[in-house]
Amino acid sequence: MEKVRLLIIGGGPAGYTAAIYASRAALSPVLYEGMEPGGQLTTTTVVENYPGFTDGVDANQLMDAMRGQAARLGADIRRGTVVKADLSARPFRLTLDDGGELEAEAVIIATGAAAKYLGLPSERKFRGMGVSACATCDGFFYRKKDVAVVGGGDTACEEATYLAGLCRKVYMIVRRDVLRASKAMQQRVADTPNIEVLWNCNTQEVLGDEFGVTGARLLRKDGTVFDIDIDGFFLAIGHHPNSDLFKDWVETDALGYIVTDGKSSRTSVEGVFAAGDVQDPTYRQAVNAAASGCRAALDAEKFLLGL
Ligand code: NDP
Repeated sequence: MEKVRLLIIGGGPAGYTAAIYASRAALSPVLYEGMEPGGQLTTTTVVENYPGFTDGVDANQLMDAMRGQAARLGADIRRGTVVKADLSARPFRLTLDDGGELEAEAVIIATGAAAKYLGLPSERKFRGMGVSACATCDGFFYRKKDVAVVGGGDTACEEATYLAGLCRKVYMIVRRDVLRASKAMQQRVADTPNIEVLWNCNTQEVLGDEFGVTGARLLRKDGTVFDIDIDGFFLAIGHHPNSDLFKDWVETDALGYIVTDGKSSRTSVEGVFAAGDVQDPTYRQAVNAAASGCRAALDAEKFLLGL
């Protein structure tokens, strides 16, 4: 069985940054990128708030640069997903999607978070046929068509304004009478003429036929039920942490986020560290994920050197 000194699980800003620091500390990190190399950021377009880029930076370019930097410094970055973890004793045992197994002296979990869905059977039925949780990935398919975005946070506003540039009309389905999003994003929505906000509305059903989504049935708080005609139904209602694989071993909170010790990245298992959105329900930004990846590498270094 392959033996690894430091295994980093996850190819987002947290994982790559951990790999950069761990490589420079000569810890020979091996990083598995998982199913979404580059992480959640690759589902967006331009990143304007990552420091260091006067005019913003393309999200994919940013992630490619992080990956390239880690690789140049010596990190062994691999395609593949960890599908099973046994963190009961050191060395930790991990199983990969190709059936391979490896042992690691220390592990950094940087598996991020994934989009939430409403949980409607009709939503599941039309997933990939008009139902999507990524406007920047799929918006292209709805050019000059009508679509809806569910949610009232920054993500929903960002996706709605992005889609408004492509689509004829964008409905925002908002369950309250206010948006949770920042004032700047709210203003951007208000300034976009082809966005219509449907306040106090919940989705009862996604409507469709054999070709895909054709509409949505909504219930307004006053009891009115009505249908809208749309071709695309986009979810933007938040995320949940990708911690399922590790829940039997490391402590998680009520929402599934991995609990870390104070300002450190230490989990409840000695030698296992967590970084990025999988342990951060609050400050879920790429720059924070990168910073916590740095912390995890420094913590892992201390642990591996017995300091
Ligand atoms: P948020 O948790 O901020 O917002 C989720 C939205 O979805 C809320 O409006 C919420 O409604 C709604 N919602 C949740 N569950 C349901 C449901 N079952 N049915 C209908 N609506 C639902 O998530 P975001 O992904 O928008 O943002 C996450 C974090 O990332 C935030 O801190 C945000 O500020 C940040 N972010 C920053 C960006 C930037 O700075 N450029 C861009 C994108 C995100 P309710 O308000 O009623 O709870």
